[in-house]
Amino acid sequence: MRIAGRQVGEGRGGERTIAVQNPYTGEQIGTVPKATLEEVREAFEIAHGYQAKLTRSERAGILQKTAALVRERLDDIASLITAEAGLCRKDAIYEAGRVSDVLLFGATEVLKDDGQIFSCDLTPHGKKRRVYTQRSPLLGVISAITPFNHPMNQVAHKVVPSVATNNRMVLKPSEKVPFSAIFFADLLYQAGLPPEMLSVVTGDPREIADELLTNPHVDLITFTGGVAIGKYIASKAGYRRVVLELGGNDPIIVMEDADLDEASTLAVQGSYKNSGQRCTAVKRMLVQESVAGKFTDLVVDKTRAWKHGDPADASVDMGTVIDEPAAQLFESRVNEAVAQGARLLVGNQRRGALYAPTVLDNVSPAMTVAREETFGPVSPIIRFRDIDEAIRISNGTAYGLSSAVCTNRLDYITRFINELHVGTVNVREVPGYRLELTPFGGIKDSGLGYKEGVQEAMKSFTNLKTYSLPWV
Ligand code: NAD
Repeated sequence: MRIAGRQVGEGRGGERTIAVQNPYTGEQIGTVPKATLEEVREAFEIAHGYQAKLTRSERAGILQKTAALVRERLDDIASLITAEAGLCRKDAIYEAGRVSDVLLFGATEVLKDDGQIFSCDLTPHGKKRRVYTQRSPLLGVISAITPFNHPMNQVAHKVVPSVATNNRMVLKPSEKVPFSAIFFADLLYQAGLPPEMLSVVTGDPREIADELLTNPHVDLITFTGGVAIGKYIASKAGYRRVVLELGGNDPIIVMEDADLDEASTLAVQGSYKNSGQRCTAVKRMLVQESVAGKFTDLVVDKTRAWKHGDPADASVDMGTVIDEPAAQLFESRVNEAVAQGARLLVGNQRRGALYAPTVLDNVSPAMTVAREETFGPVSPIIRFRDIDEAIRISNGTAYGLSSAVCTNRLDYITRFINELHVGTVNVREVPGYRLELTPFGGIKDSGLGYKEGVQEAMKSFTNLKTYSLPWV
């Protein structure tokens, strides 16, 4: 791990390390140390004691240089992501490209000053003064915790806005995929980031998570991961800012006027890219009953054509899921749905952590596979009569992250935008569509409504100060 740029824990043996395995081959690709509480405290102490003084130009330079390094090392980064997460080469290359985008957006956003000016003579009792705003970094340290599903891009979405706003961050990546985070931190140090501005601690969350949430130097906690841990963090954080990006159960809604070829392509891509492990993956396919037969046939054909297997094979469309227990969970949810009357059309075969893309028809919204977040390549198809029912089913889970709607009717589109209880509505696109720059995040159990995306994260990582001056 890296405490203010220093390599810590190398050579630590046995019980005090975490082994990371390639989910496809089962081979151990390396070990990372389990940080002690003292080490985590030291990381916060160093970060707190340091005041970053980088100019906007210097910050932009570091981010641009890191982006160039990411592009130079694209192949190595993709291989690392594939090795520790089992994501296929295509997914890994795509993720590395997204990381470069996050850096480039950070480098351009940092050049903008979004300060505002308010004249005060706006009402009869106003004065000849002006109120101005300016942003400053947090007084304390940002504590960041990331999930396994995008090993480097989730990390970039925390670290880049932190660097861009001159903050100091202590990051704990998922213990399942720690190497991508360490690699990313090393690129930033190499590009000239003052090491005090970023530490990466690895370890067992049962030992160190509470310290990451309650250390007195922590001003803000930014967390991406599952709902259960997100709510635990909310209960533990106390008087601190908390940004939570949690799970999703996103629908693609296909109306009777939709282009079914396009809709089925979006449905399949949204469901299986990144092995179905995206917070915004298509997790439910809601289709109007008059076109359900044709849509389902197309989804089945395109699912059969989705090649899964050895993640290192560049021709494969999908590698493994994160580990065998995850694959077993999908298998058991699908079996449960079939026992309750759903029809398995393709898939549900498993070998270790390799799980075939799976289509289930006749699914009812109450079945676990559709009600809970099934974080893998499973496509449950649910039929509905009309738009009222589509909206009711879509809103009927605890989640509210994103959605896709396939229709050209403006009356439908307007209703979906107004009535779906989600953070995003994408018309004729997958639910996950966005730029790394644009506001992103959910409501209900998917988050508290604070957005991420480079621009919004930079806002939430700063304190807004107002000052006023006489104006004559
Ligand atoms: P997870 O919640 O199991 O783990 C996330 C992180 O929390 C890991 O780093 C883990 O070590 C840490 N952690 C474990 N116990 C903790 C504790 N008590 N306190 C603090 N941190 C603790 O999630 P995961 O399985 O790695 O990721 C999958 C989940 O992440 C899915 O639910 C997915 O939808 C969600 N996700 C959400 C978004 C989003 O932007 N909304 C993006 C990606 C993933």
